[in-house]
Amino acid sequence: MLIKTEKRTQETEVVGNIYCNMCGRQLKTDKHGYYEDFVHIEKRWGYTSEKDGKEQSVDICEHCWDKFTAGFAIKDK
Ligand SMILES: [Zn+2]
Repeated sequence: MLIKTEKRTQETEVVGNIYCNMCGRQLKTDKHGYYEDFVHIEKRWGYTSEKDGKEQSVDICEHCWDKFTAGFAIKDK
């Protein structure tokens, strides 16, 4: 009996190390591999901006998020 085989290449996206953009600290994972909670922000600037078309994304740890939001003139809800 002839068995036909074929080679397949599969691309898999995996989460690499995550660093806080504000303090530079690498976020920790627990024994199950879950990251400590953090804020992820993605922004694509529009045509009314000087950054038209530019995409930015940042990750911020909980500690830095608290420092960041403490500076808000209008507090979050
Ligand atoms: Zn941080």
